[in-house]
Amino acid sequence: ALTAGIVGLPNVGKSTLFNAITQAGAESANYPFCTIDPNVGIVEVPDERLQKLTELIQPKKTVPTAFEFTDIAGIVKGASKGEGLGNKFLSHIRQVDAITHVVRCFEDGNITHVSGKVDPIDDIETINLELVLADLETIEKRAARVEKLARQKDKEAVFEHEILSKLKETFENGQPARALEFNEEQQKYVKQLHLLTTKPVLYVANVAEDEVADASANPLVQKVKDFAANENAEVIVVCAKIESEIVELDAEEKEMFLEELGITESGLDQLIRATYELLGLATYFTAGVQEVRAWTFRLGMKAPQCAGVIHTDFERGFIRAETVHYEDLVAAGTMGAAREAGKVRLEGKEYLVKDGDVIHFRFNV
Ligand code: GDP
Repeated sequence: ALTAGIVGLPNVGKSTLFNAITQAGAESANYPFCTIDPNVGIVEVPDERLQKLTELIQPKKTVPTAFEFTDIAGIVKGASKGEGLGNKFLSHIRQVDAITHVVRCFEDGNITHVSGKVDPIDDIETINLELVLADLETIEKRAARVEKLARQKDKEAVFEHEILSKLKETFENGQPARALEFNEEQQKYVKQLHLLTTKPVLYVANVAEDEVADASANPLVQKVKDFAANENAEVIVVCAKIESEIVELDAEEKEMFLEELGITESGLDQLIRATYELLGLATYFTAGVQEVRAWTFRLGMKAPQCAGVIHTDFERGFIRAETVHYEDLVAAGTMGAAREAGKVRLEGKEYLVKDGDVIHFRFNV
């Protein structure tokens, strides 16, 4: 399964946020026993469409979909020099598919900051630099070898050399690999280098309790946004402390509390949805009278693979996917009406499933 790793310097609010995440998973009826790995937190993906489908179909049960966050422990500074815990930090990042980078934007005299002042851009650059240096080390030996071969006009080596020297120059300037643009063929090559700085990043600006409603009043948040815009990265504003309180509430209390705070959606819910998208994940639904359920798939997956998300037998014996898009189903009002309107299609093996498809799989057992 795809997972996003939470990183950040000490005292920025990582644990507070991660605790809110695991707490949210533990409180949910669907994942009560999923606490095997203390560094993994399961979150349900908030999705209004699931609610709407439930109203429409009135099933016995409704099940949201979920995915995982991983808490990345270890020492950040000096990590690329490969010192003990730092090494662990990097190897953990290597295993995740996206990075959720928490930075501190709240001032609190009682909580010390590792570098003595609250400066989120400095925080970001500290971590990014370690990742960049680790990547530089990853490619250096290979770059030297390839350079020799490229001088002998070896075709393969010339191709690799062009990419590696571009990467090397970028890393030496302290920039991440995701800042570069590559064509499809080059991307394939870059992918198998397993770099850290090609992973998509999302920044989480952790603000003070009284700032969630109007985060633009916090100049540090604006700085993070400007920085992120340069990288085409997204910024989610949360107050980790408040999030850890919200997860203790039931749905009704939560709504009231959010209203009091002057926001419509909790920061954690925004973070979950944004991370889901960052991972390239999307949702399809199954909708029967027994159960209405959301399922996670990776964009680009075809119908049989998506069937395999439910059960491997569904993939093996796949015949067809009876498909109607969520919007069409809601517009029609009932499955029967959608069928009459010609909105229910029979899709085959090559069908690329779309976010929001409502699917009934037909398969041989
Ligand atoms: P970590 O070292 O990054 O895991 O940071 P922690 O989650 O342990 O937080 C460090 C300290 O900052 C703790 O005392 C938290 O209670 C506090 N803290 C975390 N988030 C917030 C916040 O949003 N507002 C305030 N005022 N304090 C926070």
